[in-house]
Amino acid sequence: LTKATLEDIKVREEQIGAFLNVTEKEALAQAAEIDARGVRAEVLTDGIPLAVKDNIVTKDIETTAASKILKTWMPPYDATVTEKLYDKGMIIVGKANMDEFAMGGSGENSAVKPTKNAWNQKKVPGGSSSGSASSVASGEVRLSLGSDTGGSIRQPAAFNGIVGLKPTYGRVSRFGLIAFGSSLDQIGTFAPTVEENAELLQVISGYDAKDSTSSNVAVPDFGSKIGKDIKGMKIALPKEYFGEGIDEKVKEQILKAAKHLESLGATVEEVSLPHSKYGVAVYYIIASSEASSNLQRFDGIRFGYRADHIENLEDVYVKSRSEGFGDEVKRRIMLGTFSLSAGYYDAYFKKAGQVRTLIIQDFAKVFENYDLILGPTAPTVAYDLGTQSHNPVAMYLADLLTIPVNLAGLPGISVPAGFVDGLPVGMQLIGKRYDEETLYQVAAAFE
Ligand code: GLN
Repeated sequence: LTKATLEDIKVREEQIGAFLNVTEKEALAQAAEIDARGVRAEVLTDGIPLAVKDNIVTKDIETTAASKILKTWMPPYDATVTEKLYDKGMIIVGKANMDEFAMGGSGENSAVKPTKNAWNQKKVPGGSSSGSASSVASGEVRLSLGSDTGGSIRQPAAFNGIVGLKPTYGRVSRFGLIAFGSSLDQIGTFAPTVEENAELLQVISGYDAKDSTSSNVAVPDFGSKIGKDIKGMKIALPKEYFGEGIDEKVKEQILKAAKHLESLGATVEEVSLPHSKYGVAVYYIIASSEASSNLQRFDGIRFGYRADHIENLEDVYVKSRSEGFGDEVKRRIMLGTFSLSAGYYDAYFKKAGQVRTLIIQDFAKVFENYDLILGPTAPTVAYDLGTQSHNPVAMYLADLLTIPVNLAGLPGISVPAGFVDGLPVGMQLIGKRYDEETLYQVAAAFE
């Protein structure tokens, strides 16, 4: 299986560009080891290959987060999720391309190369987990891991017509995930089907003493409700998710999906999330502030890249960071440093935290009466490569439907829901904290 997967990657990779690094040697060695000991029949994932986003650290395998500043960095340890994959016999066949440090929504911010959409190579794959999504959708691999800080799993899953899940904050350990916005980041799963997605989440979930924000709640059998009747379920449609800026044809597909759920016996009603309109502003302050702090460690000394022609210590920092970080990363560091600075902290960072609480309360109120929230994942389908990347504000605005979920720490899934102009549309389901099971149950009603 590993050999066949590596062959598939060879055939398709030139077109797709989903990988920064195909770990052929390591993967074949691991597969040989599994062959030698015999596949454990009781371990469903034993010997199954997958791709892992390049911001998840892998011991002795180069990990760069698609940034020049980490080029050649060999982590001396594994992320907790990486260890869990190995424990369950899963074989990492490569590190997936991404927007540098997971900052972006089109895959075009990779310092190495842009990944292509699996359906149409003139289109963006979405981001920031661009390679994780395209590698699965193009059939290079069956499964992959990504990370989602403001939509980076759900949106590329939508653009590529596959199933992508961001778990509840705290469900999956962040130990060994290169930090972007620590209060928002979660590792999550990509697969062509709902059931396989749930199986992969099963492997990586659970409390971890090495991540103080991971939660000590029981891990259920995530797929246990798949196939169960959804009759009587109460589903909320936030009117803000069908308003200005959302493509009419995308809306139509999502309303069709809502009708399908009604036909299966669910109740679908309109609700309001009145503060969601502030989500983008709040997110870009909080995520950038956390990033500006998290990225201080890349100083030209401890990791990866160091500039030449250094005269003094300040040169090491300034030149290495100026040359090592891409434009979008620098933009976020500046934004974040500004909103955290003494004179502006109250007006920006503190205020953003307060509005975040209002967004959390909006969701809590809806979940008093409903089991699930339904809306589009993204306002449009995949667009042409090179057409948006010069306009960061337009790119930020396109995150309006995914961002509130991270701000509130909720689980969200994107499931394929038809096509517009020959490109896949993603439907987003948002659940209560720790209720990934219901997301999978309802998502499966579309297969
Ligand atoms: N597009 C968003 C950003 O650029 C989300 C990224 C993510 O989830 N990692 O920040």
